[in-house]
Amino acid sequence: MSERQRTTVTARRLDGIPPTIFSQMSALAVATGAVNLGQGFPDVDGPERIIEEAVSALHDGRNQYAPGPGIPALREAVAAHQQRHYDLTFDPAREVAVTTGATEGIATAILALVDPGDEVILVEPYYDSYPAMVQFAGGVRRPVTLSLDASAEGGRLPREALEAAASEKSKMLLLNSPHNPTGTVLTREELETVATFARDHDLVVVSDEVYEHLTFDGTDHIPIATLPGMRERTLTLSSIGKSFSFTGWKVGWATGPEHLVQALLGAKQWMTFTSGAPLQPAAAYALDHLDRWPKELALDLQERRDLLCDGLKQIGLDVTIPEGTYFAVSDISDLGWRDGLEFCEALPDRAGVVAIPLQGFYDSDAGKHLVRWTFTKQRDVIEEALDRLARGTLKK
Ligand SMILES: *Cc1c(COP(=O)(O)O)cnc(C)c1O
Repeated sequence: MSERQRTTVTARRLDGIPPTIFSQMSALAVATGAVNLGQGFPDVDGPERIIEEAVSALHDGRNQYAPGPGIPALREAVAAHQQRHYDLTFDPAREVAVTTGATEGIATAILALVDPGDEVILVEPYYDSYPAMVQFAGGVRRPVTLSLDASAEGGRLPREALEAAASEKSKMLLLNSPHNPTGTVLTREELETVATFARDHDLVVVSDEVYEHLTFDGTDHIPIATLPGMRERTLTLSSIGKSFSFTGWKVGWATGPEHLVQALLGAKQWMTFTSGAPLQPAAAYALDHLDRWPKELALDLQERRDLLCDGLKQIGLDVTIPEGTYFAVSDISDLGWRDGLEFCEALPDRAGVVAIPLQGFYDSDAGKHLVRWTFTKQRDVIEEALDRLARGTLKK
């Protein structure tokens, strides 16, 4: 879209919101024939059994509107999942909502709870839909920089940094652990710091946990809602996409206390109202019957993480070893680059590989020299990318 159209046609709520970097970098990968370690989607689908459930639902007449809050079987499966994994009890009738992916959970939570002028504390680097939705709602984002140093004093989200982002207008804290794009899984201690901060400032916490099952080396994912005093102020979001390798399905869910879930549904009823009717029974089936599948996926992903990270190190690329998710982050300053976008734009020509620059996910300059690689690709794709990087010219 041209600048002129933007100023004359587009609503102000879109000002400064660029097209996602993923479209730009994926287009570059297609145009140059580069190996795409940019956008994070698996190149192998999830379990056949779940696909069969969806096919049966299509044939069995599950093709009309599902109830707005989601079909009862899926709400019950989500409640049972939270109980089984985290000892969190939710009433499937009032405290669980099915959303169109976690993305709609994020959108509707913000639209339902943030007034114009309210401040929302985000952890940078942030998932790119967060600042966009805060802006749609007329809210103001206040970023806190996540440290990549696991041994950082006071944790990777120290209290002082959180306090610096707080004011009397703070309304919400948006949290994401396991964290995209850095692969950070917050420890209990770090979560306790965040929880105490949220309680002291009376914040609603929206916790994006779409990578809840994709953690490595025995690292435990701890939902912040399990910490003292947090269940009553937290909306927890997840979805089928990452746990079961169906990122195109866009079936997600929110759990939380009744007043927050009902607020979210108040916004959701005027967004999509409902979606994915034949996919909802299949998602319920996945949660009820294939509990081990995401764990096995995590083990497999861990091997591919090692393949990628060991390979990057051998090539002389710095890399932070992720504790979860699909992603690893490199600092490219040792190679003489100061600007990740410049590096990523040059990389297809120099090596035939696409990565994602992180600077767009920060308000500050803290991510200017960082780039993200995904390892949710088959081994031969990762090996091909590493070969190309080894043969390419990476030094500026
Ligand atoms: C992929 C992703 C989402 C989107 O989830 P959907 O269920 O596909 O909408 C949300 N948050 C983070 C951090 C993600 O990586």
